[in-house]
Amino acid sequence: MKTKRGKQMNNPYGINIWSDNNFVIKDSTININHQNQPSLLEITQDIRNRGYRGPLLLRFPHLIKKQISTLYSEFNRAIEEFNYQGNFQAVFPLKVNQFPNFINALMEVSKEYNYGLEAGSKAELIIAMSHTPIGSPITVNGFKDREMISLCFIASNMGHNITITIEGIGELETIIEVNREFNSPTVPKIGIRVRLHSSGVGIWAKSGGYSSKFGLTATELLEAYELLKKHKLLEHFWMIHFHIGSQMGDIAPLKKALREAGNIYADLKNRGAEALNALNIGGGLAVEYSQHQHATEMNYSLKEFSNDVIFLMKEISKSKGIEEPDIFTESGRFIASSHAVLIAPVLELFSQEYHEKSLRLKEKNPPLIQELYDLWKALNRTNAREYLHDSLDHMESLLTLFDLGYIDLEDRSNTEILVNLIVKKSIVLLNDGTDELKKLQDRIQERYLVNFSAFQSLPDFWGLKQHFPVLPIDKLDIKPTNPATIWDITCDSDGEIEFKRDLPLYLHDIDVTKEEYFLAFFLTGAYQEVLGMKHNLFTHPTEATIIFDENGDYTISNIIESQNIMDVLDDIDYDTNWIDRQLKRQLDESTVINQMQRDELLGKLYLYLSENSYLKTVQVNNSITPPAPHAKYPTH
Ligand SMILES: *Cc1c(COP(=O)(O)O)cnc(C)c1O
Repeated sequence: MKTKRGKQMNNPYGINIWSDNNFVIKDSTININHQNQPSLLEITQDIRNRGYRGPLLLRFPHLIKKQISTLYSEFNRAIEEFNYQGNFQAVFPLKVNQFPNFINALMEVSKEYNYGLEAGSKAELIIAMSHTPIGSPITVNGFKDREMISLCFIASNMGHNITITIEGIGELETIIEVNREFNSPTVPKIGIRVRLHSSGVGIWAKSGGYSSKFGLTATELLEAYELLKKHKLLEHFWMIHFHIGSQMGDIAPLKKALREAGNIYADLKNRGAEALNALNIGGGLAVEYSQHQHATEMNYSLKEFSNDVIFLMKEISKSKGIEEPDIFTESGRFIASSHAVLIAPVLELFSQEYHEKSLRLKEKNPPLIQELYDLWKALNRTNAREYLHDSLDHMESLLTLFDLGYIDLEDRSNTEILVNLIVKKSIVLLNDGTDELKKLQDRIQERYLVNFSAFQSLPDFWGLKQHFPVLPIDKLDIKPTNPATIWDITCDSDGEIEFKRDLPLYLHDIDVTKEEYFLAFFLTGAYQEVLGMKHNLFTHPTEATIIFDENGDYTISNIIESQNIMDVLDDIDYDTNWIDRQLKRQLDESTVINQMQRDELLGKLYLYLSENSYLKTVQVNNSITPPAPHAKYPTH
């Protein structure tokens, strides 16, 4: 027992597994492991004191910088170690996070790296063209039409270092036509995405392999080579590209893909593609999201990853007698995921009714209920297992009695509460981790209603069952005892993070009417924001950027509040002026209120329309927003 508990306390919520030293637990709070190490709690309270309510998305640019510099330094270390002749270059794939407060921070912190952007659509290309410094690389992937290719020619003539990746022969034909039409001084660089027979692994595996949407087969590669030569574009063909899928947990498929793509590269180079000078290995570098040692998601480190890439390309180049190419990466998840933390207030604990004070015992109770009560009171370490079994047995009988009409709703409520109390007490007393107890613990799990939308803020949890590390931002010096299921505030049953016995989450037993309790979801910076859905019309959380100054203190900037209700409706193309007039007219024409009441209701209505649609919670002892008279949820 001792070692088990010790282990849990040393690594609460698996922080050593997923946090990469970005966060530390200090006393009762989780703090940012940077500069003066402020706690997430104080930052959250700071922002809430400015009047913002609902969920918060915090961005930490210093963590973007850390990821970029780690990526470059690991690859440059491997290059030096293996005496590799090519350079390392990288771009950020915009589809992973296009939000301006992320991209602006990314460009700001990456200035010393010649770091560029990757675009997969016209809108992303416009972000790349306007934000990438002249000279830093831009790569353009995905399906392209004539207009998109023309935009690449425009970028090239602005002086941009831009590479069009050809995903199919048709695109090459369009490039040839656009080139003829533009007849301009510069031509974008050309890359070719290859279709590999080796494929990725995991839930995102479809990006690589023969069934992939993208890339040229061997036959098409030879055809493309000849077309490039015929149309005098061979001198612009400089990159081979592949991408085998995101969140590659296993390093083996990457090595296979590298061997395959490396040999394609060498063959084309030796065939006469002299300008060829770069191998782009795409993204896929994984992130450790797990909070449990037995469920880790990746089997390699960035060091191993970079060593493998550099070593394998060195080997292939040597055996094929070619110069060692520059290595390009388009890692997105690795760069972006750690920078954002979602903080959401807990609104309610659902089984708090299972409390001694909720019992409605009568003068004279049915004998089995009296029996349950006595079992509960007499429960001790020696008799716990026996009494537990007895109580479960009694519960079955009592529920049957209810079905047959012999006991009433109050009796039934007392049954539920007493059995719950007995199970909880037995778990504490026995504490032996047997299967039976674990199953019971599972049954008495607590449901935490949390002020956020899983559809908006954790869409990969909804769509792919991706786990995100979660923990309370306070009380970390107290051992949590409630097996927890998390409910979001959408009225969709999929908005639930269920308690899992093999990946358990325990949270604290708290009274939300007396104290605040916030959960933080980590590693939400990649993919979640733009994939987020407005299910139930919950919009993006309020966001803020946390920057550290020379003194080590933090400042909060770029606050963007969650959209208000009318803006959300406007976004999905409602005529909000019409809605406004309609609501006002209905109040005007109502016959159940007088003029004074009408004015008051109108004032309230307009206030609510200007606020965001997340639930309002009010701090204890804080009267910024007085609790509404009919508040549905406890105001805290
Ligand atoms: C999505 C994508 C990436 C980014 O992948 P990550 O797994 O986020 O690193 C890189 N390149 C291409 C072509 C992509 O489609």
